[in-house]
Formats: sequence, C-alpha cells, structure tokens
Amino acid sequence: MVRKRKKKFSTKKFLRFFIPLIIILTIFLYKDDIYTLYVYKTTSYSDDTINVIKDNNLDINILNKKYSQTLENIINTEYFDVKHVDDYLEINYLDRDNFSSNISKLLSLNYTPKEINIIYDKLSDESIDIIINNDYLSDLIDIINLSYFKEDLLERYIEYILKNDYEIETAIIYVNIGLDKEYYTNVSEISDQDDILVLVNKYHKLSENYVPDDLKTISAKYQWAGRSNTLRKEASDAFEKMCEAATKDDIYIYAGSGYRSYATQLYLYNNYVLQDGFDAAETYSARASYSEHQTGLAMDIANKNGFISESDKEYKWLIDNSYKYGFILRYPKGKENITGYMYEEWHYRYVGIDVAKEVYESGLTYDEYVAKK
Ligand SMILES: [Zn+2]
Repeated sequence: MVRKRKKKFSTKKFLRFFIPLIIILTIFLYKDDIYTLYVYKTTSYSDDTINVIKDNNLDINILNKKYSQTLENIINTEYFDVKHVDDYLEINYLDRDNFSSNISKLLSLNYTPKEINIIYDKLSDESIDIIINNDYLSDLIDIINLSYFKEDLLERYIEYILKNDYEIETAIIYVNIGLDKEYYTNVSEISDQDDILVLVNKYHKLSENYVPDDLKTISAKYQWAGRSNTLRKEASDAFEKMCEAATKDDIYIYAGSGYRSYATQLYLYNNYVLQDGFDAAETYSARASYSEHQTGLAMDIANKNGFISESDKEYKWLIDNSYKYGFILRYPKGKENITGYMYEEWHYRYVGIDVAKEVYESGLTYDEYVAKK
C-alpha cells in the first residue's frame, strides 16, 4: 500500500508564489504613476517646468522627448501659451534678445516653427522686430531665400509688396533698383566711378568733377558727321571693332555721341527743359551727374542719316550683334518704368563681352541685372 503523502501548508511556498503576484499586480494597477515617476526622475527639464506640465495637465510625454531649451525658457514666462507647446519643441533655441517674447509673437502671427527657424537663422533682431510689427506675410520665407534679398531693405520690401501687385521676384528687384522711391530721391554717390560695370541711373550719380582718365577718340572713319567722339579706351576699341564687323555685313554705323562732360550734360539738359518743358525732358535727358555719357562707356549710335531708329537695318544688326562686342541696348522698349527713360533705340552701353552676353540672354535691363546680383 502506498502511503499518501499528506499535503502540508508551507509558508515558504506561499511567499514564493504570492509575492511576485502582488508585485505584478501592483505594477499593473499603478503603472501610470510609476511611469510618471520614472519620467520625472529621468527628464532633463527643471522642476519648475515639470510643475507647469503637471499643473496644466499636459501630456507628460513632452518631458520624454528631446530636451528643448526653447520650452524650458518660455515655460516660466508670461509668454508661455499651452496651445503652442508642441511648436516650442520644434523651434531651435537661440540666445537672442527677447527670444521668448519674439517667438510667441511670431507664433501668434501664424508663422510655423519651421518658418521661425529660418527667420532666426537668416535675420537680425532688428529685422525680426520689423516682421513682428507687420501682419503675417505668406511670401516672407521665399523673399528671404532669394539670392538677391538684401536685409537692409526688408521694411521697404514689405511696404512695396503690400502696396503693389507684382510677383515677389519682381517686387524685390524693383526695390533693389530703388523704384519704390521717386526718381532722384534716395540718391547715392557712386563709389567706384571707374568700374567698367558702373551703374548710373536716377538713383546713382557720378560726382560733378568725374572725368575718366583713359578717354580715347574713336577713329575718324567711324565718326558721324565729322565729330570727334571719345569713349574710355576699352569701350572705344570695342566700338571700332563692332563698326568694322558691321561693315563686313554691309552695315554702316557711326559714333553719334559718346563721352559727355558734366558741363555738357548740364547745358543739354537745361536746353531740353527750355525747349520741351521739364516733364518731357525728364523722360529722355539725364540731369547732370546722372548721365551714362559721363562715364565714357555710353554711345548714341548713328547711321548715315542720324541716330538709329527701330526701322533701320542697322538697328536689327545691333540688336543681334552688339553684345558680342560688349555693348547692350540700355533703354529698351517697354522698360521705361524700370530705366526711367523712354525707349532709346540708339543708346548703347559698354559693359564688356561677358556681362553683355549675360544681359542679352537674360532679357533684363542693366538696372535689373545689377539688382539681381
Ligand atoms: Zn545716349
């Protein structure tokens, strides 16, 4: 007979079985609290930040994400806004003036964290103040990212865009030229007057006493009506070369009017005003100091009858070939609002072959070309 072993109660066994069960049960019941405790212990945020998160019943997972100095800094200021918590996490922290207040203003203007990062990456605090003082500008990032965006013009860009209906690129180029201001206002003196690429227009003037020191008289055979026009040496040589090339195509072009001194321009302009009135003269004659002819790089080109006009075969030849010799048509048709001058079929400007080719291929005026640099 097999003796049945009597089951005996064992405390040891009981403990071995129930203690783990109780632990598991406790963990299960209090898992949220345990997790919360764990997050509080392991997060890099300060106690103050943790308290604000607690007080506002915010998702504690915020504390678990990548540490954000932006959140840490703003959370205990008056600028903290619960609805932007996730946005703060995406904004790269920078040690800049009024950072917390500025980002809160940008967020309330509806700029996204991504946009705010670009704004802060590219602009100074002064520019950020300008942005904050305006309404949301949906094109702002596109503007900032243009290669020819000039930060010191930001306020003028915004004003011009709000007032006009231009495409963004056009508006920026126009402001770069200076077209948001009246002609002959906001004028600057040209710093390098001897630069072959010098831009002279109704916003950029030469000094009264500027005379190029390398003026050269163009060969008599390319002078119109026995004149003695000069250009700066490089331009003068290029002009003769162009005349010579034209001859081979049976085209005969001449130097009608090249370099003109300040005094000559003053005399001409005043005479035109007397003759045609101020408003008319302004459309075709430059005030003294503002004439390209004073650079020794501009030429009014003639055929045997006088200055070239659109219907002349010489006009067509020049349009197709002048850039190969470094010359560009300076005041084209339909661009009067940009150049500030009426269409001048005869007025060419020397800029050198490389730039002339670029301007020719771009279809831009020289003013726009420079404004995109
Ligand atoms: Zn001219």
